[in-house]
Amino acid sequence: MLEKILIANRGEIALRILRACREMGIATVAVHSEADRDLKHVRLADESVCIGPASSTESYLNVPAIISAAEVTDSGAIHPGYGFLSENADFAERVESSGFAFVGPRAETIQLMGDKVSAKNAMIAAGVPCVPGSDGALGDDPDENLRLAAEIGYPVIVKASGGGGGRGMRVVHTEGSLLSAIALTRTEARQAFANDALYMEKYLEHPRHVEFQVLADTHGNAVCLGERDCSMQRRHQKVIEEAPAPGITPEQRAPMIERLNRACLEIGYRGAGTFEFLFENGRFFFMEMNTRIQVEHPITEQVTGVDLVREQIRIAAGEPLSFSQSDVCIQGHAIECRINAEDPVRFLPSPGTVTQYHAPGGPGIRMDTHLYNGYTVPPYYDSMIAKLIAYGPTREIAIARMRGALGEIVIDGINTNIPLHIDLMKDANFQRGGTNIHYLEKRLKIGA
Ligand code: ADP
Repeated sequence: MLEKILIANRGEIALRILRACREMGIATVAVHSEADRDLKHVRLADESVCIGPASSTESYLNVPAIISAAEVTDSGAIHPGYGFLSENADFAERVESSGFAFVGPRAETIQLMGDKVSAKNAMIAAGVPCVPGSDGALGDDPDENLRLAAEIGYPVIVKASGGGGGRGMRVVHTEGSLLSAIALTRTEARQAFANDALYMEKYLEHPRHVEFQVLADTHGNAVCLGERDCSMQRRHQKVIEEAPAPGITPEQRAPMIERLNRACLEIGYRGAGTFEFLFENGRFFFMEMNTRIQVEHPITEQVTGVDLVREQIRIAAGEPLSFSQSDVCIQGHAIECRINAEDPVRFLPSPGTVTQYHAPGGPGIRMDTHLYNGYTVPPYYDSMIAKLIAYGPTREIAIARMRGALGEIVIDGINTNIPLHIDLMKDANFQRGGTNIHYLEKRLKIGA
């Protein structure tokens, strides 16, 4: 087993990883920016190293500083968490060539799945259903592109192969605007991602976002831990997630699990990963794969009883998975609300000092957060400060517990989006389940 792990992240996920390490008897090294000396996990870690100023480019994205911190502390492995360097193939490569284990997939896999055209081709080859679209990257021939769009059928979406974070894509409703949309997206992609490769696919109008969690070891085993519904989004950012996805039948789920496990083996996947799909009219369409632990991993942990971070670490240490697909049993229902330090109406960030913090509790309640009384939320990073997870034997009970817990939390001194979550738990359409990815934005617009 690994003896010491360096945690190359901050906030709640750094604390989550630290807790897993402690439980497994593994020593921890926290690396942090100058603005993050007071983070809870920094206080709890066995060792800590300041790797640079507040700006994340100079600290959490500073590869040489992180590698040297791993060297001076004699760490055996680096856990990247999510965001920052977690899906950076060059970083994964540097970590391994410097002699540390990377808690994540091989650099080649990150590269393959990070490029949307190559990822989609790999999925088509593995028999995973994809959105109908161009066969690989788009060429420069205008007639050919017009013919292709007509064949796919409008509306289509033009997407940058190197895009991410909801950027580098354009929906096209009519033939007349196709060529200018391609030209504009190409220019943007060249500037933003230094890669002007584009592809085209059918634009699905009312899909849900449904994603599948997988784990694969280095001994040829892969398991799928079911799905999560993350359709409640604002500006492509997930706000609420739940597992399992409402209304997905065992007949819809089983063939996906089978295909995704096979896909993991075909691409030589290692570690925890998520296959993201759009789900419309009872069918799944692959969108992308996230080659890291995700923010919403706790809801899968609650319904399967599997500790995903622990499994990630065991896999990085070269151990085989401790269970197989037939052991996976999804029980009950879990919901996660992402709590952000932001104005609940205008969504502007609200950094500052938390003067009072009281955690919620009770059966089925889990609060993943680095908050404490007197903690100052810095203005430099993502505004998510906590994840509240409610588990229950049924979806109704999970919602009722979530409502109770949201009402119990006290976070004074800063604004949070808790009022929005309280509203959404009372929303009749959310309660019914199965709303699509546009629902939240529409609801916010009409101010219902
Ligand atoms: P990113 O890596 O930037 O998140 P994705 O490919 O995951 O890019 O797409 C981001 C979002 O764009 C999706 O969550 C979905 O809302 C929308 N989207 C992408 N492709 C399609 C499509 N073919 N039809 C409808 N919506 C799409």
